[in-house]
Amino acid sequence: MFKKILIANRGEIAVRIIRACNEMGIQTVAVYSDIDKDALHTQMADEAICIGPAKSKDSYLNMQNILSATVLTGAEAIHPGYGFLSENSKFAQMCEECNIKYIGPSSENIDNMGNKLKAREIMIKAWVPVVPGSDGEIATQEDAISSAEKIGYPVMIKASAGGGGRGIRVVKKVEDLILAYNTAKAESKTAFGDDTMYMEKFIEEPRHIEFQILADEHGNVIHLGERDCSVQRRNQKVIEEAPGYSMTQELRKQMGEVAVKAASSINYKNAGTIEFLLDKYGKYYFMEMNTRIQVEHPITEMITGVDLVKAQIRIASGELLSYKQEDIKIEGHAIECRINAENPNKNFMPCPGVIKSIHLPGGYGIRIDSAAYQGYKIPHTYDSMIGKLIVFGKDREEAIRKMRRALREFIIEGVDTNIDFQFKILNNQNFINGNFDTSFINKEFQNL
Ligand code: ADP
Ligand code: ADP
Ligand code: MG
Repeated sequence: MFKKILIANRGEIAVRIIRACNEMGIQTVAVYSDIDKDALHTQMADEAICIGPAKSKDSYLNMQNILSATVLTGAEAIHPGYGFLSENSKFAQMCEECNIKYIGPSSENIDNMGNKLKAREIMIKAWVPVVPGSDGEIATQEDAISSAEKIGYPVMIKASAGGGGRGIRVVKKVEDLILAYNTAKAESKTAFGDDTMYMEKFIEEPRHIEFQILADEHGNVIHLGERDCSVQRRNQKVIEEAPGYSMTQELRKQMGEVAVKAASSINYKNAGTIEFLLDKYGKYYFMEMNTRIQVEHPITEMITGVDLVKAQIRIASGELLSYKQEDIKIEGHAIECRINAENPNKNFMPCPGVIKSIHLPGGYGIRIDSAAYQGYKIPHTYDSMIGKLIVFGKDREEAIRKMRRALREFIIEGVDTNIDFQFKILNNQNFINGNFDTSFINKEFQNL
């Protein structure tokens, strides 16, 4: 097992990883930008090294500085968390070349799946059902018009390098196509430095169902069931739950097997997630694979009892998976609310600033993954998630009740948050009845 791990990230996920290391008796090294000198991850790690100015490009995305910090502190492995360098195949490759263990998939895995267009092609070859779409890149406006005609409206224009819900546009009719294509293309150039676009059939009112995968370095692959992440705003997840409301044992088995097949077909290693769309008729389609730990991983941990971050570290150290598929038992129900510093009444505008006071909910079945503390200044430089509130109940109804009471207890002063908005969702009748899909927030909260 590793003696020392460097965490190439910040915020709640860096804290989450430090906690796992502490419990495993592994020393930790935090890296931080100028502005994160007093951040929780900086304070919690055994050692902390400044890797540059606030701008991500100069610090958390600065591969050279992060690798130097690793060598300097004698860390043997790097955990990339999510976001930042976590899906950067070049970084994984540089780690491989420097003899630093990258806690995640191989650079080849990332290369294959990080590019959505390439991932689609690989999945088609592996007989995994994908969303019907363009054969390849949509390079010109003319391509866009002819592809949309072939696929049939409504269509979705997507950035091949996309993530975090950006670079995506729905187009209902030909008149809107060119503008949507051009803006999505421009957006992805700015956000991802790549403007390769493709097109998919827009699946109407689907559920977002994703499967958690664990794969060791000896060819063993299992899944840990699904998460329903259909409660989204602008294609970004707001609430996630596990297991999925609409899932049957039979469908879980089927989709789980497909997810395992997808991962096996590329010789995938470490933790990963296969995202599917499940349509109104019960048909499912591969959408993308996230080759990293995900924001919503805790809900899977709650219902399976598997610590996914520890599993990632064990896998990276060469251990065999300690579970077989039949050892994975799903019990109870978990829900996660993403708590963001943003103002729902001002179009969810991010609201950085100083947390004057914070009172966290507690009690049986409540978990908070956060890097916030009283007096902490949320910088405007990074994303606005303050933390995640996760509850675990014996069934969905209990989990919903627990989440409501936890949201009522949760008090943050000094910055605007989406806590009240989350509370409204937890009291929405359609949400309670499990009657929702990815269009839920748009339909139910139009006035926001
Ligand atoms: P998850 O799939 O784990 O739910 P999100 O899509 O919310 O994660 O993304 C997690 C974090 O990573 C967010 O901060 C998001 O902005 C960032 N992110 C995701 N994909 C990319 C990408 N391709 N490039 C840059 N940042 C990304
Ligand atoms: P990202 O990398 O930003 O997470 P995804 O490809 O996972 O991008 O898509 C994000 C969200 O957009 C999905 O969770 C889903 O709600 C919606 N979406 C993506 N593709 C389609 C599609 N073809 N039809 C309908 N909705 C889609
Ligand atoms: Mg996605």
